[in-house]
Amino acid sequence: MSERTYLDWNATAPIREQARIAMSDALSRTGNASSVHADGRAVRRLVEEARSHGANLVGAEAKNVIFTSGATEANMLALTPGLEIGGRKEPRDRLFVSAIEHPSVRIGGRFAADRVEELPVTSSGVCDLAALKLALKKAERPLVSVMLANNETGVVQPMNEIAEIVHGENGVLHVDAAQAPGRIDCDIVALNADLLSISSHKLGGPQGAGALVGRGEIHIVEPLIKGGGQERGLRAGTENVAAIAGFGAAATVATAAKATDGPRMAALRARLETGIKSVTPAAVIFGADMSRLPNTTLFAVPGLKAETAIISFDLNGIAVSSGSACSSGKVQASHVLAAMGVDPALARGAVRISIGHSTTEAEVDRFLQTWNTLAGSLLKERRGIAA
Ligand code: PMP
Repeated sequence: MSERTYLDWNATAPIREQARIAMSDALSRTGNASSVHADGRAVRRLVEEARSHGANLVGAEAKNVIFTSGATEANMLALTPGLEIGGRKEPRDRLFVSAIEHPSVRIGGRFAADRVEELPVTSSGVCDLAALKLALKKAERPLVSVMLANNETGVVQPMNEIAEIVHGENGVLHVDAAQAPGRIDCDIVALNADLLSISSHKLGGPQGAGALVGRGEIHIVEPLIKGGGQERGLRAGTENVAAIAGFGAAATVATAAKATDGPRMAALRARLETGIKSVTPAAVIFGADMSRLPNTTLFAVPGLKAETAIISFDLNGIAVSSGSACSSGKVQASHVLAAMGVDPALARGAVRISIGHSTTEAEVDRFLQTWNTLAGSLLKERRGIAA
């Protein structure tokens, strides 16, 4: 079977044509964006155009966009005691991260381990607001990092309520929004966030690009990468202009298309989930009653083993994943489902389907037909082993 059906957009999205064109155009130019001659200035223009596009994506000012190699680096750059934002210059004394964060946040950035605290989530996968409020009393100048939408379940956090609590406790709020742009609103002002991390390759730009975006001006006492002073001294090194240009182009398309892409994906996702439930009525769809990204479904069936299911789908030409692709191809127990209190045996069977703007009804139906064919044997196999 040669035709492939790609349903793993949360791991990485196919590159948008406009991004490919912008990258190829950037690659055909010679010039260092820091050079003062005309060749350098032409390349500088590409970088600054992309910065405006990145800023528009999240309703920020272009001067507050710092390009990085992706959301991982943006998270690591932001999560440091020496973060100064909006004129607040005292070091942050503690970091609080939700238990369902991406590993690049969970490890606590550049805070000492005893200065990092994990915040619980409810069984629905949203931040426990009472626990958040209580925890923040332990710090004088807390830094809080909560993702906008979870990469495994798609559950969206009540960010305005979180922001109100954090700001009420003299805190700064960093939001990892890697999975959100082009799928849901992520205007930094509307969210009331102080900082956002974004990733190019989740919205149709190239891999290896992203940004840390501030609502106000960002200062970082110890940048991660020091050297030639690029990115206002916050991220040294000659800019990856082609990747930045591709990111900017993808951001423009995603911004323009969000109003139509969101409802389209939501309708396809509803078809998908109705189909899964009709093939396997015992299927559990995690976070189903919550506000979720319109493109993500994480489901499990008692007795299903995720590795076997994913390999079987793959052999049938369909790319899906277990909770997260970030663990070098290894299917590990999901820390997200563990934090939600899901039975580990059920969590081991979690399969994630994530769609995108160009996913078709035929692709969703192909997944469902394949699931219809595979489910019986996958579940029987497990029952056989267990017996
Ligand atoms: N945060 C979240 C929520 C993600 O899903 C990802 C990508 N899996 C990242 C951060 C890391 O982004 P990048 O690949 O751009 O480093």
